[in-house]
Amino acid sequence: MALKIDRRNFLKKSSQAGIACCTLMMGSKLFAANSMGNIFGNEKIDPKKLNFCGYTCPADCKFYVATVENSDAKKKEVYELWKIKERFGVDFNSETTICWQCKNTEKPAGVVIQHCTVRACAIENGYDACIECDKLTSCDKDLWKLFPDFHKAMLELQNKYKEQTV
Ligand code: SF4
Ligand code: SF4
Repeated sequence: MALKIDRRNFLKKSSQAGIACCTLMMGSKLFAANSMGNIFGNEKIDPKKLNFCGYTCPADCKFYVATVENSDAKKKEVYELWKIKERFGVDFNSETTICWQCKNTEKPAGVVIQHCTVRACAIENGYDACIECDKLTSCDKDLWKLFPDFHKAMLELQNKYKEQTV
């Protein structure tokens, strides 16, 4: 299944809702490449290998590259691209305009993932990913409500995961 999310529409929606969909902002092509069929193939589904929402960070994510290189120029670029001022009302700060990826708990969390309600909820409930959560179908987090195709894909992934774990 290929997920179709229009990037401009996504940015507008996520900006309106103030949600923090960090890596999902990479665009529909990468997003589709990350769809569940391509993540695991015939392998066993492992929630530990997914971000909390179910996404997988692409290695060439601009935010991640800017963070690893600690480049202020690149950080400023992602600050604009991710609309951080508009979404969170935060002025540019090189120290907090970072992303070491959703699951990296050994590095400080940057401004974007700090605002992610799905990530916070999954961590609070002790899940590696929302596909482990029985409330995923009815979960009212903005991410799922605004992006039903992504929600549907994660529910399908959850079904496959459950089939594999019985
Ligand atoms: S859980 Fe939140 S911070 Fe992590 S990848 Fe998904 S949207 Fe981004
Ligand atoms: S209630 Fe469950 S599905 Fe919803 S964000 Fe929290 S862990 Fe994820």
